[in-house]
Amino acid sequence: MAHSRRELIGGIGLGLALAGAGAPAAFGATRRIGYAVVGLGSYATRQIMPNFAGCETARLVALVSGTPAKLDQYGAQYNIPKTHRYSYADFDRIRDNPDIDAVYIILPNSMHAEYSIRAAQAGKHVMCEKPMAVSVAECQAMIAASRKAGKKLMIGYRSRFEQYNRLAIDLARSGHVGPTRLITAEHGFPAQPGIWRLDRPMSGGGSLMDIGIYSLNAARYLTGEEPVEVSAVDSTDRNDPRFKTVEDRITFMLRFPSGIVANCVSSYSSSHNGYRVIGTQGYIDMEPATPYQGQSMSIRKDGVTAPRVLPAAPKTQFAGQLDHLAECILADTTPIVAGEEGLADMRAIEAIYRSAAERRAVAIRA
Ligand code: NAD
Repeated sequence: MAHSRRELIGGIGLGLALAGAGAPAAFGATRRIGYAVVGLGSYATRQIMPNFAGCETARLVALVSGTPAKLDQYGAQYNIPKTHRYSYADFDRIRDNPDIDAVYIILPNSMHAEYSIRAAQAGKHVMCEKPMAVSVAECQAMIAASRKAGKKLMIGYRSRFEQYNRLAIDLARSGHVGPTRLITAEHGFPAQPGIWRLDRPMSGGGSLMDIGIYSLNAARYLTGEEPVEVSAVDSTDRNDPRFKTVEDRITFMLRFPSGIVANCVSSYSSSHNGYRVIGTQGYIDMEPATPYQGQSMSIRKDGVTAPRVLPAAPKTQFAGQLDHLAECILADTTPIVAGEEGLADMRAIEAIYRSAAERRAVAIRA
């Protein structure tokens, strides 16, 4: 069943809906916000950089990498002049480049805090990939640095700019299948040996930091509430050589103030990508829920199950995310996924790890 535009826009705020739905950006015609992408790895080069082409308010103006050959290759491909290509050693020189308004940190997790703080100190706005950092203390330091610099800080929670997830938020929070009682959210993929994600000093943790965070974040955005308590179980096989320093499977139950419970899966040894919002009259199913493309939704209500199919989005979630920070910079507004969102996830993540380690329910305090 096709979805009406009113339904799409309703409940999540007109500004957000328009920001992600491809409406003309209020300032886009006059000025575009220039981004420097920091870290030319898989996500940066395959997803983020190609999607600047679909942006209205954001543009790619600079590159930062430790590998000169990557700077040459992508500099040529994206028409970035040599003056706008930086190594990590001369990263702080971005301060002197007025074309760079914002910096997008797409480095291994343990480097997020350092580079976000250095970018803020260089007078730049920051988009930082998830997980925001590897501890609550680092998240707080990043927020403080951006505040001190008077600059924006946004976390790369792309699903908030994806139309099926926005619709799911709208439907869940408006009680489309009755008040939400339970959420199940599952995310995982089999991790290949040898990657930095399996090295705690680089990743800060295992599947939870990397992919389980989608289950956690979805539970928070689908409820619009902050969890108050978590019970977690770590089922990692420590004899598996991949999991010497980080966890594989960790399951956790979040309790929310309204009484909603979310049962969440995070895994590095099995494939999952979905959530279900269960209300008193049925459920909203999303599977897959958070891939780069190809989300699929169905709704069961009053005993009838039907797919929900939306018209193709005029803008990808990546372009919507990039444009959102740009629009916030131009309008001096706060991103819908500001640093505080990353901090809230990190508070929950620390509580999940503590709960699993101590084998007891742990309170999550704001
Ligand atoms: P990747 O390994 O492909 O890229 C990481 C980049 O960092 C590489 O270019 C590497 O050269 C560079 N780097 C700089 N210093 C490094 C060091 N000391 N050790 C290792 N690499 C170093 O990883 P990725 O998949 O692009 O992930 C990067 C970040 O993006 C992570 O924080 C990840 O969580 C995030 N990510 C987000 C999404 C999403 O959908 N939002 C998807 C993938 C990755």
